[in-house]
Amino acid sequence: MKVIIVGAGIGGLSTALALHRQGVDCEIYEKVPTLLQQGVGLMLLPHASKVMEELGVLPALDEVGVRIEHTYFRTRHGQNVWDEPRGLAAGYDVPQFALHRGYLQRVLVDAVEERLPGALHLDAAFENVEETADGVVAQFRRADGSIIKANADALIGADGIHSAVRHHFYPEEGTPRWSGLMLWRGSAEWPTFLDGRTYLNTGGMDAKFVCYPMASGSKPGIQLTNWATVVRRAEPGGPPPAREEWDRQARLADVQELLKVFTIPEVDIEALVAATPMFWEFPMCDRDPLPRWSFGRVTLMGDAAHSMYPFGANGAAQAILDSKVLSEWLSKESSVAKAFKGYENERLPIVNEIVATNRSGGPEHVINAVEKLSPEPFNDLEAILPFAERKAIVHGYAKLAGFSNEQVAAGSSSGSGKTH
Ligand SMILES: Cc1cc2nc3c(=O)[nH]c(=O)nc-3n(C[C@H](O)[C@H](O)[C@H](O)COP(=O)(O)OP(=O)(O)OC[C@H]3O[C@@H](n4cnc5c(N)ncnc54)[C@H](O)[C@@H]3O)c2cc1C
Repeated sequence: MKVIIVGAGIGGLSTALALHRQGVDCEIYEKVPTLLQQGVGLMLLPHASKVMEELGVLPALDEVGVRIEHTYFRTRHGQNVWDEPRGLAAGYDVPQFALHRGYLQRVLVDAVEERLPGALHLDAAFENVEETADGVVAQFRRADGSIIKANADALIGADGIHSAVRHHFYPEEGTPRWSGLMLWRGSAEWPTFLDGRTYLNTGGMDAKFVCYPMASGSKPGIQLTNWATVVRRAEPGGPPPAREEWDRQARLADVQELLKVFTIPEVDIEALVAATPMFWEFPMCDRDPLPRWSFGRVTLMGDAAHSMYPFGANGAAQAILDSKVLSEWLSKESSVAKAFKGYENERLPIVNEIVATNRSGGPEHVINAVEKLSPEPFNDLEAILPFAERKAIVHGYAKLAGFSNEQVAAGSSSGSGKTH
């Protein structure tokens, strides 16, 4: 069995490693000629770390990332509505990581190059796939216009939110759906705050600031600190004001005023943003859930199948869980079409529910709920929104997304996250 993977992002590379672990041969075709370390921070919650452990890359992640041990969800006035230990500190048997997306991609590329030498082909943009009697023929184009043809038993589209493989099956779909929210993200070397392992999430969906350390800095006491801020510009559902890309540079003047609404005692966020050499602007987008990902010998995964808002920090994690389930189905089922349907049946209902839940903030909805009931600082949180209701939002999401402590311990995080 040989599989073509389209896209060398987090999902495609994880799939290559997972297939290799199951003894299934694969080749990866990636559009860009050079893998630049683009992007900023992302979070790997324990369900994804568990898969990374199975793939043997946890020690490498420890070299480049930060183990997160505490999370605070707060109102924009700086009042805690939820705080809890995370990762090992919360009793999981694997850590929760904050990482630079480019460093995570590098760790995965290094493992692919070591275990699957020659399998990663850059400068190969997917154009077309045809199913034959006993396989698939895919066509890719290099930047110079020349064509590459590749044959295999199966093809997996892991080519992100602007997926060309998805477009092949859903040509009428159009642009991603805009949340109406603008998002700015950047990172800067910054003095360690709190224990150096804390994720701070302040404000509801319509005005939010998030920051956390994601790598060591150039000297002791300094960490590479990721930040993101969100503000509502329109109602959800329209076309984005610009294409969601990872290289649209923003200016300090675009965000300076927005930062004034947040109270974050531990971090001078205006100074943090001002100290950020370069940062980026995105319209926050997702796509409407699909009824079907698998078409005979071709399937979709990761953002190509289910791009989602970053609330809940599950975009990369769900792509990684897809890779595990896909590789297991392809190793145990001799019919590719049946394997892809099995993968889809296991993953699609859950992930589509995560996409829908993220539209109202995912676990961070707990902040929206409190801010809505009490726009001004509160005296008695319990009277505003009792603990049990806050817990239902935050832990209900963990269960849906598959990272409750019990799910990770039982190894069931990838396919059994239903809350009802
Ligand atoms: C450059 C970049 C930077 C990012 N930075 C962040 C970040 O800082 N924080 C965060 O939370 N998320 C970031 N993301 C998104 C995040 O990686 C994904 O949401 C998540 O990891 C799911 O991964 P994925 O593999 O499905 O998609 P992606 O990680 O987006 O990977 C898709 C891959 O497919 C390739 N591709 C696209 N079209 C084609 C084609 N026609 N043929 C072949 N290959 C193609 C892309 O170049 C990319 O390498 C970034 C994505 C990209 C592409």
